[in-house]
Amino acid sequence: MTDKIPTFADMAEPYVDIHTHRPTGRHIELRTAGIHPWMADAQDAASLLPLPEGVQAIGEIGLDLLRGPSPERQTETFRQQLAIAEREELPVVLHCVRAFEPVMRLLAGYRLPAVIFHGFIGSPEQAARAADRGYCLSFGARSLRSTRSRRALQMLRSDLLFLETDDDPVPIEDIYDEAASVRHTEVAALRETILNNYNRIFESK
Ligand SMILES: [Zn+2]
Repeated sequence: MTDKIPTFADMAEPYVDIHTHRPTGRHIELRTAGIHPWMADAQDAASLLPLPEGVQAIGEIGLDLLRGPSPERQTETFRQQLAIAEREELPVVLHCVRAFEPVMRLLAGYRLPAVIFHGFIGSPEQAARAADRGYCLSFGARSLRSTRSRRALQMLRSDLLFLETDDDPVPIEDIYDEAASVRHTEVAALRETILNNYNRIFESK
């Protein structure tokens, strides 16, 4: 986490920040539509339609077994949005807290162009199971504070990797610095890898 002066190359090439609640407009930041599991009581999935112009993914959606409405209510809203993503052929960005098993079970029922677990907190074993299905994992400041999540970050296949700021006030540059050191790679290489992942999923249409 250094305070360095950005070079021309830094400014010319934006970072991919796959999930942020604090868009800067300077980086590649995803445009999503979705009902957060905490809001599963307050909004109906049908209200998402028609999707706003330019939406790239349905998110963040999922299950949170620590917070929010009942698991039944959250599951219903999650299913409805997975169905929308399938029909619209859009990737999903997932909020998954203490709900890895039910989320994996539900996902198996839908054909989705891509799945991204945002703010991944979990074990290397869970990461490997998600990776076996070709699901992407995105890591942010909170993931980087978790020892098992750092191990998951270290071993994850590079074509499934994303990084994010979420709602943390940490600049995306710092997340890349830290993630590069966890993966024993250079920031420039990591940026290229993640930009390729972004382009493969979101720019191939
Ligand atoms: Zn979230």
